[in-house]
Amino acid sequence: MTDGACLFESPQETTRLKVLVVDDDSLIRSVYREILEGIDCLVEEASDGRGAIELFRATPPDLVLLDLIMPGIDGFETCRTLRQLEEGRTVPILVVTGLQESAAIHRAYEAGATDFIAKPVQADLLAYRALYLLKAGKTFNALVRNEANLRLLRTAIESLPIGLTITDRQGKITFVTPAEAKMHGYCTEELLNRDVRILAPPRLHNPAAGKRSETFVAWCRESVNIRKDGEEFPVQISSVAVRDAEGTFLGVISSCEDISERKRSETLIHQFAYSDALTGLPNRTLLMDRLKNALAIASREQRSVSLLFLDLDNFKDINDTKGHAFGDRVLIRVAERLSACVREADTLARFGGDEFIIVQLVEEGENTASRTAQRILDAFRRPLDIDGERIDVGFSIGIACYPQDVQDLGGLLRSADTAMYRAKALGRHNYQTFAAEMNEEVLEKVALESSLRMALDNGEFSVAYQSQWDLQRESCCGVEALLRWSHPRLGEIAPQRFIPLAERGGQIHSLGEWTLRHVCGQASSWILAGLPLGRIAVNISGHQLNRPDFPRCLAGILAEAGLAPAHLELEFTEKVLMADAGKTIEILQALKDMGVKLSIDGFGTGFSSLSYLKHLPVDRIRIDRSFIAGIGHDCGDEAIVKAIITLAHNLNIRVLGEGVETREQLDFLRNLGCHEAQGFLFGKEMGWAEIEMSWRENAGFSEGLDLQWSVPRT
Ligand code: C2E
Ligand code: CA
Ligand code: CA
Repeated sequence: MTDGACLFESPQETTRLKVLVVDDDSLIRSVYREILEGIDCLVEEASDGRGAIELFRATPPDLVLLDLIMPGIDGFETCRTLRQLEEGRTVPILVVTGLQESAAIHRAYEAGATDFIAKPVQADLLAYRALYLLKAGKTFNALVRNEANLRLLRTAIESLPIGLTITDRQGKITFVTPAEAKMHGYCTEELLNRDVRILAPPRLHNPAAGKRSETFVAWCRESVNIRKDGEEFPVQISSVAVRDAEGTFLGVISSCEDISERKRSETLIHQFAYSDALTGLPNRTLLMDRLKNALAIASREQRSVSLLFLDLDNFKDINDTKGHAFGDRVLIRVAERLSACVREADTLARFGGDEFIIVQLVEEGENTASRTAQRILDAFRRPLDIDGERIDVGFSIGIACYPQDVQDLGGLLRSADTAMYRAKALGRHNYQTFAAEMNEEVLEKVALESSLRMALDNGEFSVAYQSQWDLQRESCCGVEALLRWSHPRLGEIAPQRFIPLAERGGQIHSLGEWTLRHVCGQASSWILAGLPLGRIAVNISGHQLNRPDFPRCLAGILAEAGLAPAHLELEFTEKVLMADAGKTIEILQALKDMGVKLSIDGFGTGFSSLSYLKHLPVDRIRIDRSFIAGIGHDCGDEAIVKAIITLAHNLNIRVLGEGVETREQLDFLRNLGCHEAQGFLFGKEMGWAEIEMSWRENAGFSEGLDLQWSVPRT
């Protein structure tokens, strides 16, 4: 051997099997060595039992050749001791014995001997016997190792959190892990030998499941499984076919994972990204997605997409008067009621704030959108019940259709929005379908809105005055101030048009303040001039009333103008006063305490609870002119007028009929004891100079009116 060979064992040497030869006769040992090296074994020798045990401990051999009769520890004892060693349990021990009696053989076998060979030993017999035992020992060791590995594998499989099943080629379960059984609410025994389809809901049973086996290789997918108690749950299943070396199908191994938790978090994430947190409806992002899809389908399949743009009519008021938390509850209720009005295939989304959008994919020429809109309008005629409080909401709805009205997504939204504005302009709680000429109108509206912002600075506003008459004294008792806007290009613009714009744009505050300052200044100078003004009434928007500093601001204006508060009357609409009972009464009381007069404008239209009226510190109610207009031909209107006047008498509140145009109306009111009246019969509103002139001339009113009424002399 070279030095190098000492350092590195030759590759054969590592694979050569080692035999430990134990015999006290050195000659016999060398004979054995010869024979064994002849079959390529590595031989170690021990001359007695103690030496054998030591060598064995140091490097366990693959086979022990053991003599029985030896000095010191004999072969029986040596065998027993080796068998007690950790490595000695499985090594074959071949006993070479000259003792022929069966008793010795039996003892050696008891001590752990594997096999026996008789002395004198025949060389080839020993060689074959040794070879056989070495081979058997190797196989046995491998078996033991395999068994240990199998046990390990089984423990590993059984402790996996995912389930595992093995089925035979008929789909019968031949192996199932406790995790799999538990996941499905069974114990393993209940599942063994059952058809694997017991784990899937019947509706998912594949009648061809057995057939696929021949070609089946593997699949992995999400599915639904069913528990013993019938509860279904989502799973992730991977299956692979098991085949033998010839490729014959033997069965399937499947792993199964309960993914309920993952599904729940996926759903949550989806909800978060795609639905509106308040109402749970699809949000803008999801809407845009669906809309895009719908347009794609429509153009592919020659169908149409209708888009309904919905805007709550009075949401800002509700929010302003009742607070945001209340407003939120209103939106939730609105969303619920809307949901009940659409078909399952439609998309109902919250577009933002108080805007909702419905997308419908329909057959060309189908008129589903108008029917849906009408259904919504009908559904919202009933008030909402919010914490026991009845809240009226209305919708303005605009409808546009693809491809009839527009050819792209942006256009569809814009057109529906335009139609919605049109619906708002036409008096709310109605729907309008898009028409091309609407665009112009909306442009004009936008222009109006922006010029409104400049109008105050440009001095485009003025105030007109309309007189009010005391029907008992037959004399003028006051005037109502009415705001006028003279647009440099568009001319006179009616307050019904610009007041809502100013309310929406927020200019109502500066505009209202300007009006009060102007009117109070005017009134003060009339009183100084000794003219018989009586009182001067100013219309106040709900938005102004809701400003907490309104009373303080008003006090400042009165002081600045030097006007006694008793000359000023503030007119509020019934709706404004009804909005938030507690808060409104408080503010009204503060105003009343300042000494100004309060009246309810347009009384009868806001569905006032009449009993509520007696809690309001008002001085006057003004019967809405729509009821006055019905006098003489509408007994319903007449009945209402009569009831309001009676009520006012009972509550000791002054009552005024507005919009009186005919003698008949005047007489009707007068006969019922209505205190005051106002209207074209007495005269239209006029500029300050004209009304001043009429007072100075102590004029009677309206030619043809044979009353000799006049301004009281000062
Ligand atoms: P309103 O308070 O009911 O005002 C009376 C309206 O009725 C006035 O219209 C007046 O021209 C009209 N009118 C008077 N007599 C008759 C009549 O015999 N027959 C008919 N058909 N109409 C008559 P105007 O000036 O267009 O005002 C409309 C509304 O605009 C007012 O209704 C009021 O709610 C609002 N408004 C006017 N000025 C102001 C203001 O300074 N501030 C606020 N917030 N609103 C205002
Ligand atoms: Ca008024
Ligand atoms: Ca009125």
